[in-house]
Amino acid sequence: MHVAVTGGGGFLGSHLCEALLRRGDSVVCLDNFSTGEPKNIAHLRDNPGFAFIHADVSTAVDVPGPIDAVAHLASPASPPDYLRWPLETLAVGSRGTENCLRLAQRHDARFVLASTSEVYGDPLAHPQEEDYWGNVNPVGPRSVYDEAKRYAEALSAAYRRTRGVNAGILRIFNTYGPRMRPRDGRVVSSFITQALSGEPLTLYGDGKQTRSFCFVDDLVRGIVAMLDSPEGGPFNLGNPEERTVTELAELVLDITGSVSELQYHPLPVDDPARRRPVITRAQERLAWYPDVGIEEGLRRTVEWFAARPREVAAGAAAIRGGQQDGVPAVVSAVP
Ligand code: NAD
Ligand code: UDP
Repeated sequence: MHVAVTGGGGFLGSHLCEALLRRGDSVVCLDNFSTGEPKNIAHLRDNPGFAFIHADVSTAVDVPGPIDAVAHLASPASPPDYLRWPLETLAVGSRGTENCLRLAQRHDARFVLASTSEVYGDPLAHPQEEDYWGNVNPVGPRSVYDEAKRYAEALSAAYRRTRGVNAGILRIFNTYGPRMRPRDGRVVSSFITQALSGEPLTLYGDGKQTRSFCFVDDLVRGIVAMLDSPEGGPFNLGNPEERTVTELAELVLDITGSVSELQYHPLPVDDPARRRPVITRAQERLAWYPDVGIEEGLRRTVEWFAARPREVAAGAAAIRGGQQDGVPAVVSAVP
């Protein structure tokens, strides 16, 4: 297949580009490097099947040559990122998604939206099935991401229903792994960065909130299965192994052998209390199930971070500095 991957310079997108090239597809990666980095795809540049277009997909999307599928991953994803770029996040979820749906329509191509468990907001149902409609604060600080993705889902469903676009929706739950930026701000990368630097691990709230963490290789296998399928979804993709944030911190300390202390900070506004996906649909319709448990996934991620001590040290300083500057702004940004 010829696949256009938006956000291909980011964490998940760069792994997706790699997986597609590995199986013989050709890839056009579109990115504006707002939260991604050129080095994520530097090793792919010499591959004859790989092309890169520097573009803001919220403005316009044009790709020369044939396209069989569009994987739309472009969007800030880490809370500190989307809080820093609220309007850009809304733009890429809305205009960006419509530009990509139109690209798919012009090429009669498959379209896959990387949506998120955030469409469930702070869920009142647990675990979360796809039929649950969610509990999102439409004007809270996180709404720029949650509502953008909800609108992106509505657009994708409407293009499928009324414009004949073969669009499918994936709701991705917390995914981690190599190539996350040490300064990214999401919990796994922050805890590993802090543990390896001997800095306190910053737990927000009482650390009893839960997330279900999926290793990147598993997740990317799910995206590829969705690209190959005609299903509309939405399908949850994630690892149902649920952990509290405190349990995650302890696991990271164990794996890194760090003696960093646990330090408690205020809980960000609207931070969801619980998250665990029901993945029966993806299992039945995509034959997808995650293989990598949290201990194994964390070990592989820690190994990758540990091999980059300078970036990790800079990341730890940036996280510390960000917290001093009030980032993540979600801690203080009351609407
Ligand atoms: P990331 O920030 O590493 O990657 C996002 C990429 O999109 C970056 O390379 C960024 O530069 C690019 N981008 C942002 N706005 C753009 C624009 N207007 N035009 C072109 N490129 C743009 O984040 P990620 O974790 O790789 O997430 C990728 C996608 O998966 C996002 O859509 C995110 O919402 C979704 N997702 C991720 C997770 C997760 O846990 N990683 C969970 C749920 C959903
Ligand atoms: N979190 C934390 N310390 C950090 C970063 C995040 O305790 O340094 C918490 C955060 O408040 C949330 C959970 O970890 O409850 C997951 O946060 P993340 O940013 O990874 O993802 P999301 O909130 O989008 O699920």
